[in-house]
Amino acid sequence: MIAGAHLTIDLEALAANYRLIRDRAAPAAVGGVVKANGYGLGAVEVALTLIGEGCRHLFVALQGEAEALVPELPHGIPVYILNGLLPGGDAACAAVGAVPVLNSLDQIERWSAEASARHARLPAVLQVDSGMSRMGLPADEIEHLLVRPELLRSIDLHFIISHLACADEPGNAINGAQETRFRAIAAHFPGVPLALDNSGGIFQARSRFDLVRAGIALYGGAPHGNAPNPMQATVALEAHIAQLRTIPAETGVGYGLTFKTTRESRIATIPVGYADGWPRCLGNKGAAYISGIRVPIAGRVSMDSITLDVTDVPDEHLYPGAPVELLGPHQNIDQVAADADTISYEILTQLSRRYERAYL
Ligand code: PLP
Repeated sequence: MIAGAHLTIDLEALAANYRLIRDRAAPAAVGGVVKANGYGLGAVEVALTLIGEGCRHLFVALQGEAEALVPELPHGIPVYILNGLLPGGDAACAAVGAVPVLNSLDQIERWSAEASARHARLPAVLQVDSGMSRMGLPADEIEHLLVRPELLRSIDLHFIISHLACADEPGNAINGAQETRFRAIAAHFPGVPLALDNSGGIFQARSRFDLVRAGIALYGGAPHGNAPNPMQATVALEAHIAQLRTIPAETGVGYGLTFKTTRESRIATIPVGYADGWPRCLGNKGAAYISGIRVPIAGRVSMDSITLDVTDVPDEHLYPGAPVELLGPHQNIDQVAADADTISYEILTQLSRRYERAYL
């Protein structure tokens, strides 16, 4: 396949981010969240890099992700499935050796039944809902479990976890309220290690329990709000000019001709579009860089191409095949996300399979 752009993934920067988080979170251990194919960067490559740095806990979202990842890893590194057991997936989960996060009484009962069938205790993580109302045992199921602790008899609980709804807003009182609720629930399970924080939580000045679950900060995204981002960028994306044209003033560009030139203009077309995860809403809003010069997107983002107004770029930088930075030293995932009115997670996880990938 001829790639429209080259994606370079810097595993050394990922490792450096892991070390920064490790130092920040200590004495809590750092688990790596590698769901959605390692936030788009490659679950296996990311997981092996983290393991090389000493990471011993990995989190995916889906059972299928765990089933694909576990065989690629050294034996004995637990892969936790945040979304829990697939309906009817109990035996397959146990067979591959993945560790489900049990999010409901139903999942607890099914995992216990699987353990009984195997005459074994099976490992699991218990997730409780401390206030986000998304995943984990809700309050009534927690009450039920507390009066029937034997439900967990054949389960080896590695962790009790919960998730913060507003971790990227350090000043939000909800964070403290969730922590208090989490502590109160966990007090009923003495001795079981605890985990609450994601990236935003790690960079707040609060207790971090026994394990943190780091995602976006590992990949270089700002852990929270508008604070300066201490993480290193892990991705660079470079396209090349496919076509160049000079058009007169008062000429429309792209679908709907939504960009109209006000002077004689040079337009460069690059072979990357919304099918590659470059958000369509960046039409007439986002930018790229040529030799460090900002070149605004002119007109709508098409499925497979973007038109850039390169009128102010000196001629020597403009030729078919000339490099165009979409992500790099001048523009990071947080900037693109801000322009697109979304979050860096979405920019990363939508990065195209059509890009040629290289790992540093
Ligand atoms: N824990 C859970 C339950 C999650 O759903 C996620 C990601 O969405 C994470 C941890 C990692 O979060 P972050 O990428 O903000 O570090």
